Amino acid sequence: MSGKYNITLLPGDGIGPEIMAVTVEILKVIGKKFEIEFNFQEAAIGGVAIDATGEPLPAETLKICQDSDAVLLAAIGGYKWDNLPRSQRPETGLLGLRAGLNLFANLRPATIFPQLVDASTLKREVVEGVDIMVVRELTGGIYFGQPKGIFATEKGVKRGVNTMAYTESEVDRIAKVGFETAKKRNSRLCSVDKANVLDVSQLWRDRVTLMAGEYPDVELSHLYVDNAAMQLVRAPKQFDTIVTGNLFGDILSDAAAMLTGSIGMLPSASLGAENPGVFEPVHGSAPDIAGQNKANPLAMVLSAAMMLRYGLNQEKAAAAIDSAVIQVLDKGDRTGDIMSEGMNLLGCREMGESLLKALENI
Ligand code: NAD
Repeated sequence: MSGKYNITLLPGDGIGPEIMAVTVEILKVIGKKFEIEFNFQEAAIGGVAIDATGEPLPAETLKICQDSDAVLLAAIGGYKWDNLPRSQRPETGLLGLRAGLNLFANLRPATIFPQLVDASTLKREVVEGVDIMVVRELTGGIYFGQPKGIFATEKGVKRGVNTMAYTESEVDRIAKVGFETAKKRNSRLCSVDKANVLDVSQLWRDRVTLMAGEYPDVELSHLYVDNAAMQLVRAPKQFDTIVTGNLFGDILSDAAAMLTGSIGMLPSASLGAENPGVFEPVHGSAPDIAGQNKANPLAMVLSAAMMLRYGLNQEKAAAAIDSAVIQVLDKGDRTGDIMSEGMNLLGCREMGESLLKALENI
């Protein structure tokens, strides 16, 4: 396996630079092992960008991201910037990045590591072995449909309106990501909608069903969103890959992620059609532990694995990172957020060193 890629690094704020430093060291070793050449270029986003330029997403940062093969983002935000006007907040930089790269698909895995089963609030027998990927449409549906707003009626009563709308092509492109993702996993795709009530969902179901013909190896099923929510907490092991719209995906991906119980372990990927994808942990900048070498770098490291798998098509390299993570957990190495009795408490840097050691044997 070989390849040459320009990777933009956006360390951001809080614990961001700490977990990014660990991840870059791991990618350097992965590069040597699998003959992959990474050219890293760092750029500013979020609070650090506001301090340096007055803007959360400087034009130069967006340009560097657009010109690269993939973007690794750590986390943004912090108390210092919380009271700025919305247009200057760190989060606005994140939304600008998603829009600027036209990232329409969000992939969020919920994987239970056997070593961390007891971190879940659900019973061991319910969650043991859970391995779900939620593919959420990110740029359409009710969050963007027109008309939207709060309007006064003729009688002077205020009426709030949002519109859930999807075009055929919007459904098709996310359905394709759903089928392709399922193909890289266990080839089972569950499409979630509300077709018994919503016309927009009927169109969604029709298009997804039509596309199934192109993927004879993927087993397609459909669930209404209310039932899907119920099944996720009742018997989550029945799911492999879920594809759904923006609103349903927002809610279901959080519910699925929390089956795992540990926010420091959750990676994500956002993909566009032609633009580079953005790969980032689900958690924020954790300002309460920033600069203390206490952060769990594993969600960031697993985001780099997602970059290799879904952004760069380097499956073997991705699998090597996954298995290094499993090895360190097997050894009993833990950061504070996933610590339990009898395990070895490590700092962020030490967890990185343990991962590098594990990679030597892979
Ligand atoms: P958070 O995810 O930063 O932290 C929630 C809790 O989880 C904290 O106690 C934190 O210490 C802990 N935690 C999070 N990640 C951890 C890790 N890797 N290792 C160990 N512990 C970890 O959420 P929050 O406190 O609500 O937000 C803090 C800041 O992050 C805010 O400014 C918020 O806007 C921002 N934020 C950014 C993103 C992003 O960059 N995508 C996402 C969510 C929140």
